Amino acid sequence: MKITRPAIIGFPFDEHSSYLRGAAHAPPLIRQALACPSSNMWTESGIDLGAKDAYFDAGDLDFSSRSDAFADIESAITHLLERNLKPISLGGDHSITYPVIRAFHKRYPRLSILHFDAHSDIYDVFEGNRLSHACPFARIMEEGLVERLVQVGIRTLSRHQRDQVARFGVEVCEMKDWSDDIRFEFRSPLYISFDMDGLDPACSPGVSHPEPGGLTVRQAVGVIQSLKACVVGADIVEFNPARDVSGITAMTCAKLLKEIAARTLEQGEGKD
Ligand code: MN
Ligand code: MN
Repeated sequence: MKITRPAIIGFPFDEHSSYLRGAAHAPPLIRQALACPSSNMWTESGIDLGAKDAYFDAGDLDFSSRSDAFADIESAITHLLERNLKPISLGGDHSITYPVIRAFHKRYPRLSILHFDAHSDIYDVFEGNRLSHACPFARIMEEGLVERLVQVGIRTLSRHQRDQVARFGVEVCEMKDWSDDIRFEFRSPLYISFDMDGLDPACSPGVSHPEPGGLTVRQAVGVIQSLKACVVGADIVEFNPARDVSGITAMTCAKLLKEIAARTLEQGEGKD
């Protein structure tokens, strides 16, 4: 079956944030930045996302019924994958990645993840919450949902997180070891999980956990553009509009969304 195009879906959910709420307000602002006439809908590689049917917008999930949020997220993503779309989720806090990847695992049992973040998000439990936005990759790895997890931009590893990284065989490119010629090679299919605090707060100030010394937008976009594996889905999470300055982070989210969407369109069909 032909996997056709990206589908954007918003998850206005921040109930598993540990420090500040606010990421739930991000999805409409990212869409607004994407459509903002201060820029255009062309990717750097020459794809017009403004063309008719270039992508599908599935809207935002409604969490107001207070049912099981994670079950709702998993089933929304499952539904998009069944329609042969490539879901790009707009967070929301990073806890959403766990139910998203549960859905992807059913479709792509040999998935790899490239994870941009200042934080490893691999705590077994954080402040008593196993579903915290500090824990999604512990849940993903202990359930064996992916073949490989590669983390980039990391600069806050605690001893417990180093133990968890070793326990699960996570490949971590720590920010202290960054070099501009680092390239990442993956087998298809590949999923990108992008926490906005992986970037330096100078270019992504609108986050709940600003951590100086991060990636520039150009470094992150360079990694995304260099990927050869088939990108089958992604998320952009942890944008907290209450902390943004002059809409910079919203525009940065939109920029990443365009460049990630370009990868999903250029890589054609994923192999399971
Ligand atoms: Mn983070
Ligand atoms: Mn994170």
